[in-house]
Amino acid sequence: MHKKLFIPGPVEVKPEVLEQMAKPMIGHRGKDASAIQRRISDNMRKVFFTESEILLSTTSGSGLMEGAIRSCTAKKAAVFSVGAFGKRWYEMAITNNVAADLFEVEMGKAITPEMVDEALKTGKYDLVAVTHNETSTGVMNPIEAIGEVVKKYPDVIYIVDAVSSAVGSKIEVDKCGIDVCITSTQKAIGLPPGMAICTFSQKAKERAEKVPNRGFYLDLLALYKYIQKKDYQYPSTPSISHMYALDYQLDFIVNKEGIENRFDRHIEMAKIVRAWGAKHFELFSDEAYLSNTVTNIKNSMGIDVGALNKALGERGFQIANGYGSLKDKTFRIAHMADCTVEDINELLKNINEILELED
Ligand SMILES: *Cc1c(COP(=O)(O)O)cnc(C)c1O
Repeated sequence: MHKKLFIPGPVEVKPEVLEQMAKPMIGHRGKDASAIQRRISDNMRKVFFTESEILLSTTSGSGLMEGAIRSCTAKKAAVFSVGAFGKRWYEMAITNNVAADLFEVEMGKAITPEMVDEALKTGKYDLVAVTHNETSTGVMNPIEAIGEVVKKYPDVIYIVDAVSSAVGSKIEVDKCGIDVCITSTQKAIGLPPGMAICTFSQKAKERAEKVPNRGFYLDLLALYKYIQKKDYQYPSTPSISHMYALDYQLDFIVNKEGIENRFDRHIEMAKIVRAWGAKHFELFSDEAYLSNTVTNIKNSMGIDVGALNKALGERGFQIANGYGSLKDKTFRIAHMADCTVEDINELLKNINEILELED
């Protein structure tokens, strides 16, 4: 039996989106490929509220995260981490020979604009990396307020990992002053894994021009230059199947569902899961910074999370255990992509039945 996924990626994908991926191939050097890629970029600019160029990469989100920190750090990166994915960015920097410092807060807490200001005041950094939605803890960092701080330092590039929030939670890239905002297909966009997408500002481009060793496949400047010159075609063969599906899904989001309606639906689902979590358990993270796409619930009743998931599996559902060191101490319910309020209510009803909780 298929288990409906309530994990923070991959997510449930609508059958009509999956069907797009079964369409016959076209050449990636033709006019048709250019047209699809141009349409994807135009719609991505709408959902990200940006004038920046859009870059696609046939990698998961981590590919563009690695590319961004490597392509855009000339001096030293300040990586602000609130959990596993923030730390990943620091490791990417170090393993690529990019100078970086890691600034961490306790799990469940958010980065404050003051922390960022303290770091930037030293004058040591020319890039700030922040996770928008930390999937391991269920914290959403205040990227707009952080952006206001970064704007005081005109030489600093601002890169944001929005892998588990973009297109499910509103991110106004230009208003926040974000130079590179990264996401991937298997989270709130609602596609299978395998492609990453980012915004790339003029400021990021000018910075990358000053960075000598940007690598090859994930060199954001090379991608940028190529799509300018070749009408939105890419230097190496992209996943054309993902492009069909992304083109189709973005048309649905922008022209049928409506982007604001999509954001509102995510907030509504988040509120239901938070209320349920607070009633029967406790919420793990700082209530001022809760994620709109995934809720991390403290296992305050000491349930066997594995056994719960097994029982849910027999009913056709799957949720996520706590991440890393939080395994069994918390569990996570994702509410993203094309998941509906009805889906969430059905899941919670089944958990209540299994754990013999009142509705
Ligand atoms: C899933 C996730 C990633 C990793 O993305 P991949 O597409 O798996 O490479 C990075 N950051 C966050 C916040 C995530 O949730």
